[in-house]
Amino acid sequence: MTQAVPLLVFSDLDGTLLDHASYSFAAARPALDLLKAVGAGLVLATSKTAAEVEPIRAAIGCDTWPAIVENGGGLLPAGHAADDTVGDYDTIRARLTDLPRGFRGFGDMTDDEVAQITGLAPDAAQQARRRLFSEPGLWQGDDAALAGFLDAAKANGLTARRGGRFLTLSLGGTKADHMDDLITRYRPRHTIALGDAPNDIEMLQKAQHGVIIRNSGGSPLPSLEGEYTGRIRRTLREGPMGWSDAVIQLLAEMNLMKDQNTHG
Ligand SMILES: [Mg+2]
Repeated sequence: MTQAVPLLVFSDLDGTLLDHASYSFAAARPALDLLKAVGAGLVLATSKTAAEVEPIRAAIGCDTWPAIVENGGGLLPAGHAADDTVGDYDTIRARLTDLPRGFRGFGDMTDDEVAQITGLAPDAAQQARRRLFSEPGLWQGDDAALAGFLDAAKANGLTARRGGRFLTLSLGGTKADHMDDLITRYRPRHTIALGDAPNDIEMLQKAQHGVIIRNSGGSPLPSLEGEYTGRIRRTLREGPMGWSDAVIQLLAEMNLMKDQNTHG
């Protein structure tokens, strides 16, 4: 698609568009409807797999837009199913066999084991194990061995990132990298990014307007440079309520709702 869109919104899911306890986005429905009415695009950007995102994207109603999955490892293309999406997973697993021992990835684990270490229900764990672009796992050796493993991973073209207890290997790529590509592809007049955690910071800084969604369940984000100039704002309410507040406010500031009123 080459037609310019008025606005492209990039949004994290957990703790941002999805409530961190109930995983519901219902409170954001008014803002989601407004986005659709003004012709804005919504790109989900999450650590979830394509298999996990596919039903959520359909329920939200943004399956005509690509989603950034596995923390920026790759894209679930617009209108595609996870099953039809080609990824790098086999390449990553093949390169792992050349590395020093000590890394136990999701691909080495059963659904039950992943359920146990993530706290996910077994069927949800199965979806989380359907990787396309990255391999999360646990490091089982000491720190010195880890340093050797990380050097070898790098030499084999693997990027390693730590998040919580997991060490995740991919061929590179961040949420912000894909954001750049999609901005080039869709040429939006405006961009908004919304997120609640450190892995959203790059995305928040890249957008014309960044929104930090309050999440009292996570560790608060440090002050970001754009907050002093008003380019980045924080919501008072949490999750989808804060998401809705910020999107409606920004649509008004961008005068995008004016067109909506004129035609509606
Ligand atoms: Mg989050």
